[in-house]
Amino acid sequence: MRLAPGLYLVATPIGNLGDVGLRALAVLGAADRICCEDTRVTGKLLARYKIRARLEPYYDHNAETARPVILAALRHGERVALVSDAGTPLISDPGYKLVCAALAEGLSVTAIPGPSALLTALLLSGQPPDRFFFAGFLPRQPIARRRTLAGWASLDATLLFYEAPARLAATLADMAEILGSRSAAVARELTKLHEEVRRGRLTELAAHYELAGSPRGEIVIVVGPPVPAAPPTEDEIDRRLHDAVAALGVREAARELAVESGLPRQMLYRRALAIRNRAR
Ligand code: SAM
Repeated sequence: MRLAPGLYLVATPIGNLGDVGLRALAVLGAADRICCEDTRVTGKLLARYKIRARLEPYYDHNAETARPVILAALRHGERVALVSDAGTPLISDPGYKLVCAALAEGLSVTAIPGPSALLTALLLSGQPPDRFFFAGFLPRQPIARRRTLAGWASLDATLLFYEAPARLAATLADMAEILGSRSAAVARELTKLHEEVRRGRLTELAAHYELAGSPRGEIVIVVGPPVPAAPPTEDEIDRRLHDAVAALGVREAARELAVESGLPRQMLYRRALAIRNRAR
């Protein structure tokens, strides 16, 4: 295969090596160099498909020194492939700064799409896929984690998180408390021998992992969107208006409940008036 010069962002399997795409293999086979996080991990994939290639490390801790070398190679017309250990590069993995630097120099950047844990988990979660928010890894510190979750609590979307097994139970407990006991799924070891998707309420999942201990393997947590509160019944409206009228008067009681509930103010005013008149 003849490749045009440029940077190729190549997705690789998240477990099952059979998931690699044909175009990914062709690009990896034809690239002048493959930049990867761990040469041993990428080496296994290449060995499986009998691809011989020049592997160079590109990971968080060497990126500042490796990036100028890669950019120089691209300027000289090389075909450079970037992969991560698993899944799609840049997605909670290195590569974003390299892409920005290449684009800033007008160098060609192409993606070879393929597996990613977040989409695989979303498909299997049983949660609505039409609108979702990928949150990556939460902060490790409990306070920062809880603050971050609170910031997303009102997002009307399915939420996806990557999480380490050791933090799973604590994270699920925080989620149940802060997001409410929504429907959720814990997707583990996707595409691998011990693939498992456990679905349930956040409280149930938190209790399960609290009891069972940390599971093995890699994990994605998928949390369904907030469930809109059921509109209050007529009896509930009257009960709340009754108390509010006594404390605030008719007009203010109707205004306050309209803001809280989203119900029409005129209707609440009429009901509040009737409640006051009955009380006289
Ligand atoms: N770039 C990858 C992608 O596209 O999914 C993600 C890399 S991130 C460093 C690694 C995290 O992804 C893991 O800690 C886990 O949360 C998730 N992950 C990766 N492979 C997985 C799998 N087979 N099953 C479940 N989660 C996985």
